[in-house]
Amino acid sequence: ATQFSIEGLKAEIEGKEILKGINLEMKGGEIHAIMGPNGTGKSTLASALMGHPKYEVTDGNVTLNGEDVLEMGVDERARAGLFLAMQYPSEITGVTNSDFLRSAINARREEGQEISLIRFIRQLEAKMKELDMNPEFAHRYLNEGFSGGEKKRNEILQMMMIEPSIVILDEIDSGLDIDALKIVASGVNAMRSDDRGFLIITHYQRLLNYIKPDFVHVMMQGRIVKSGGPELAERLEAEGYDWVKEELGIED
Ligand code: ADP
Ligand code: MG
Ligand code: MG
Repeated sequence: ATQFSIEGLKAEIEGKEILKGINLEMKGGEIHAIMGPNGTGKSTLASALMGHPKYEVTDGNVTLNGEDVLEMGVDERARAGLFLAMQYPSEITGVTNSDFLRSAINARREEGQEISLIRFIRQLEAKMKELDMNPEFAHRYLNEGFSGGEKKRNEILQMMMIEPSIVILDEIDSGLDIDALKIVASGVNAMRSDDRGFLIITHYQRLLNYIKPDFVHVMMQGRIVKSGGPELAERLEAEGYDWVKEELGIED
């Protein structure tokens, strides 16, 4: 079974420490949510886990099924089964959505085991239909001219096609209307399985009405300061974050 472990992770951007020692254990089949105020380091955590060069990891350990993730390059992490749906997906001119997906799928396969074109197209069409996406989007350049909501759906399409073992969704709910949110959530729920873990970063509880987390973690000032079950997300929605600060004696 998939096992993902983050221990004492510290990271900085341009010499400023943002992550101050993150600890998190995840197993396949589990959905973890990370909630927290803006500017608290949630996206930094996601990027540091994926090996984004802007973020310098200064301490800690990250392992996926016992393998040292921090030793791996960006491509290797993806091959090992890590996936991030970014808060702000980038546009890549010259690479079509379909080409990008096919090479991402094949990158995770052994030579000689590449997905056949027919099978790929069949899967792509089926998943795009599930996500209520216009088939035209397969042949458009990656995210170019996509609306905010279309980019988010496209991130979920990538997740469905690539079938990663650890899925990190960074504010996948931002910029989605309620119908799109439901479609995105059902895409995620359809991908739940015993060998896949989810780390869902969100500012709002709303998404968690549709994707039921097993664990909810509160992140503040670069640390996970509190963990609980879904009831924690409901309390944060109702009362905000101030009570957490008071309870733990955290100053702004
Ligand atoms: P969150 O996702 O929780 O809103 P972020 O991880 O985006 O928080 O940001 C955490 C802190 O790091 C903020 O103070 C932000 O200004 C800073 N930060 C994030 N990215 C950069 C960057 N590329 N350059 C400089 N500072 C950054
Ligand atoms: Mg933010
Ligand atoms: Mg963020």
